[in-house]
Order: sequence, then C-alpha cells, then structure tokens
Amino acid sequence: MSALLEGRRAVVTGAAQGIGLAIATTLAEHGARVMLADLDGERAAAAAESIGAGALGTACDVTEEADVDALVGHAVDALGGLDLFVNNAGITRDASLKKMTVADFDAVITVHLRGTWLGIRAASAVMREAKRGSIVNLSSMSGKVGNPGQTNYSAAKAGVVGMTKAAAKELAHHGVRVNAIQPGLIRTPMTAAMTPEAFAATESTIPMRRAGEPSEVAGAVAFLGSDLSSYMTGTVLEVAGGRGM
Ligand code: NAD
Repeated sequence: MSALLEGRRAVVTGAAQGIGLAIATTLAEHGARVMLADLDGERAAAAAESIGAGALGTACDVTEEADVDALVGHAVDALGGLDLFVNNAGITRDASLKKMTVADFDAVITVHLRGTWLGIRAASAVMREAKRGSIVNLSSMSGKVGNPGQTNYSAAKAGVVGMTKAAAKELAHHGVRVNAIQPGLIRTPMTAAMTPEAFAATESTIPMRRAGEPSEVAGAVAFLGSDLSSYMTGTVLEVAGGRGM
C-alpha cells in the first residue's frame, strides 16, 4: 500500500516551530514533499533539514502579499505543483480590554485574517487550474467559545471559520477543498508563554484532562490533506480533548 500522501506537494506557514513544524513533519512522514515557510528563513531551513525527506525551508511573512505570492510560486517551481496549503502561522497579543492596544488588535487580526486570506488566494489560484487541492486553515477553540484576554485572537479565529466556509463554497466546483481545524490547548512555544498556574487551570477544564501535543493536530491536517477526506469541505474539526464541545 502506498503512503497516504505519496507524491503530494505541501506548504506549511509558520512551520519553524510548534504546531507548524509538527504538521510539516507528519506530512513528510506520510510521503509528502513539504516546503516550510516562516518569518526567519534560516530557522525554516533548519527545521526542513531536521525533517529531511526533501523538505525545503524558506522565508515568508504571511502578512505581505508579495511574500505569499512568491512562496506559492517558489513551491510550484521547487516541488512541481501544489496539492496542500496549510495556513498555520499565528501570533497572540493577549490582554484585557482595559489594557489591549490598537496595535495588539491589528497585529493579531492581520496575521490571522489577512495572512490566511492571502494564502487561500494564492494557493487556490494554482489549485483551481489543476482542478484539485486541499487548503487547511488553523482556527482555534478560542474562536468558537471566546477566551477572556483574547478579544483580538478570538475574533480573528472566528473570522478564519467564516473565511474557510466562504472560500469552500467558491472553490468546491473547482475541485479545491477548504477546511479548518480548531485546536484546544496544545503544548507549544505559544502556550509556554502562559503561567504554569493558568496552564494547569485550563488543563483541568479539559474532559481528557491533558493538553494536546502538536502531533495530534498534525494528524487532523494529514487527514484533511489526503483523499480520506475527499467529500469534506467547509468543515471545522475540533482537536481539543473534548474542551468546548
Ligand atoms: P508558535 O508561536 O509556537 O509558532 C508560530 C509560528 O508562526 C512561529 O514559528 C512564528 O515565527 C510564525 N509566524 C508568526 N507570524 C508570522 C508571519 N507573519 N509570517 C510567517 N510566520 C509567522 O504557535 P503554535 O502554538 O505552534 O500555533 C500555530 C497555529 O495554531 C497558530 O495559528 C495558532 O493560533 C494556532 N493554535 C494554537 C494553539 C495552541 O494551544 N498552541 C491552540 C489553537 C490554535
């Protein structure tokens, strides 16, 4: 039996660490050739090297139109096409409404919403010509239930869901599927910024009583990027140990 993603060409944004790196690793383990993109091209290249399997790393700021368009062009040239594009890059700028600045709000909205939109637009332009492709967007349970201290992030991640569904409707008849994933609490550098008390308090609210690992999010991406999910588009998969169900 051939590997799940044998011969597939994939791009993952924000892939130098955390969930993005785990996604790239899992896709490669299932046979895909992967291009890892991140703000710092050297970190992306080092991450690609650690994966092996012909993985490549490159610099890309997902908020920059020219960077994202160049990333897709580069991937098509280097990998010979594009079958899967994962909009994973993300940031947090948590603060209460009292303390959050307009800059905190704009930064989070821009990375998640403009970044994901630029990725969908550039990837789908290539995929609709090929009449096939899968785009996976990282939302968050924060976008479903709303988290205090994350008015910017919750809004952005809810926006990713609306964007996913609108794009899925536009692209379905071109053979391009668009789905979203809502991770819960996952152990990454992003959540390492939480105090141990806040992390433990959140963990105690999870029905499975533990945080998730990046590889457990990556498994859902591999599924959505493969033909196992060939009749799924516009869906939102929760990878959250039952939290917020
Ligand atoms: P992380 O901070 O560990 O990694 C994010 C990566 O994105 C970093 O390598 C960073 O350099 C990169 N990045 C940031 N801004 C970028 C930009 N403008 N252009 C390109 N790259 C950029 O975060 P993570 O925990 O691995 O999160 C990955 C995704 O999953 C994010 O979209 C995040 O919002 C989402 N998510 C995470 C959790 C969690 O618990 N960790 C939960 C739900 C959703």
